[in-house]
Parts: sequence; structure tokens; C-alpha cells
Amino acid sequence: MTVLVLGGAGYIGSHAVDRLIENGYDVTVIDNLITGHRASINKKAHFYEGDIRDEKFMNSVFDKEDIEGVIHFAAFSVVPESMKDPLKYFDNNTGGMIKLLEIMNDHNVKKIVFSSTAATYGEPKQIPIKETDPQVPTNPYGESKLAMEKIMHWADLAYGIKFVSLRYFNVAGAKDNGSIGEDHNPETHLIPIILQVAAGERDQLSIFGDDYPTKDGTNIRDYVHVIDLVDAHILALKYLSKGNDSDAFNLGSSNGFSNKEMLDAARKVTGKEIPAVMAPRRAGDPSTLIASSDKARNVLGWNPQYDDIEEIIKTAWNWKQQHSNGYEN
Ligand code: UDP
Repeated sequence: MTVLVLGGAGYIGSHAVDRLIENGYDVTVIDNLITGHRASINKKAHFYEGDIRDEKFMNSVFDKEDIEGVIHFAAFSVVPESMKDPLKYFDNNTGGMIKLLEIMNDHNVKKIVFSSTAATYGEPKQIPIKETDPQVPTNPYGESKLAMEKIMHWADLAYGIKFVSLRYFNVAGAKDNGSIGEDHNPETHLIPIILQVAAGERDQLSIFGDDYPTKDGTNIRDYVHVIDLVDAHILALKYLSKGNDSDAFNLGSSNGFSNKEMLDAARKVTGKEIPAVMAPRRAGDPSTLIASSDKARNVLGWNPQYDDIEEIIKTAWNWKQQHSNGYEN
């Protein structure tokens, strides 16, 4: 039996593949390599290059491999891009999910762990955000993922495909030894951009907005280490294997850091000056996102190990120093 990881060549997917293999799982990876990197995939995984929307290709993998469950990371995830090109997001993310569930049902694969997002909540009504809070996305990325959650709900009722939706807050850091890490092109995420400035690859950081209703006017986010995050996926697989019901869980640290605080923490970790300027707000950004992750701790038994933002940034900096051009060197 094998665990199928869709999007296993991406930032989070590659850490999940690696961690599953470390935990003794047999792993199959599907990735179209549009944003993923072949070099990030643990060599022990069986890798198939192809697109989730390609029915013939997907059927061939499901025919060949004895799949016990699916972990689904394969999606576009850049908020500003989704504002400019929403249909790209609904096509790949939401459309891809419909195709995937059809194929799972045809092959009698009835377990899926899904990478959802805090962006499904939109501007929160209360902090910390609970799983039962209203989901009103402020951008097409969040909307595409919310639609995927809803589609899985109805597919569960109709076909008995059980799912766990894991709603990520801000994922950061890299494997401790720096062998895999975050490499997007173009990079849009805060920590890797800050570290590009620290490494002298960019002149300065632009902080998007300093007029939000927060303590220092900049956005507040909740950062969770990528290894803690992928461990929750393994727990979710076990949860489904025990015959539990479909459910959704937030994954965050329950601590919020402002963009200015993140910059200060990175200056401390790297010992670099890291020039920064204030810039206008970025469209689609909610002011504050902080998770309540009590449910994941209580129900899944999740016990995140990284509770210090500087430690998290340190692992990202370690990866960055070993891979100045990402996976290209
Ligand atoms: N951000 C920023 N400058 C950048 C990139 C990001 O000020 O060059 C801010 C962004 O507006 C948000 C926070 O950093 O408030 C985290 O953004 P990121 O894109 O990393 O993750 P998101 O919260 O969108 O998932």
C-alpha cells in the first residue's frame, strides 16, 4: 500500500514526502513540476510527472499503484496572482479537486487529507479563529479552497470519501539539515523575501501596509513550522485510517507576529541589516490571522515542536545559506 502525495515536489509537499518516508510509509508522488522541483522529491518515492486534470494520466497512476490514501497539496497558492487571474485558480484548484475525487471514487480510494487555508476565513470575526467561524474569503485563492472543502463534503455524503481539511496559517522554515526548503519563482512570501534581502539578492523589503488596525499598523500572521505542519498530515491519515468522520482543523501556532516583528526577528537571526520600506497595502490581505489550534491538538494529538519564531526563521536561513539559488545548485 502506498500514500499518494499530489504536489509532492512543492515546498510543503516535499517536506511531507520526506517525513512520510522517514516514518516508514511507501510514497507515490504526482506533480506537474509547474511550481515544484524534481530535486526536492525524496529519491525513495515513486515519482510520476503529470497534471491532476489529466484524466488518462491520473487513471494510469491509480491503476498501477495500490493507493491507500491521498494527501493533496497540488494547487496554486499566491494570493495576489489569484486576484489578477481568478479563473486560473478555480480551474486548477477547484477543477482539479473534482477530477481527483472522481478518480478516487472510481478506484475505491476513500481517504483524503487536504491542504486548506486560513484564507478560507477571510477577515475574521474573532481572534483566535476557530474552525466553526464563518468562512468568507477575501480573495479567489481562499474561495477556490473553500469550494474544494465544500465539494469534499458532498462527495463524502454521496460516495463515502472521508476527508480531513487542514487549514494552514502561515507555513515557514525548512528541514533542520537544510536539504529541502522553500523555493518559489517568483517569490512572494514574507520570510523568504526577507532572507533574500539578508542574502543581498534584493535591495530591500517592501512592507505592504502600515495602516491596519494592529499594534504597529502592519499585518499580523501566525507562523507554523513546515515539519510540524506535515506531521499533522500524518496524524490526519492515521485519524482517517481509524474510521473517524470527516473534519476540518486549523494548523497554526496560536501566536501572532506583525510584519515589522518578523523583520526584527530576521535581523536578529541573520545578523544583517535588512533594509525595509513601507509600501501600499496588498489587495486581498486580511489584517490579522491567528489560529486556535486546540482542536488539532485535542482530536489529532498534534504537538508542534517549534514554538519560537527565531528558531523557525533560523531553519529557513540555514536552507537559504546552503542553496543560494534554491534547487538550481
Ligand atoms: N508581505 C510584505 N512584503 C512582502 C511579502 C509579504 O509585507 O514582500 C506581507 C503580506 O502583506 C502579509 C504577510 O507579509 O501581511 C505574509 O504574506 P505572505 O505572502 O508570506 O503569506 P499570506 O499571509 O499571504 O499567506
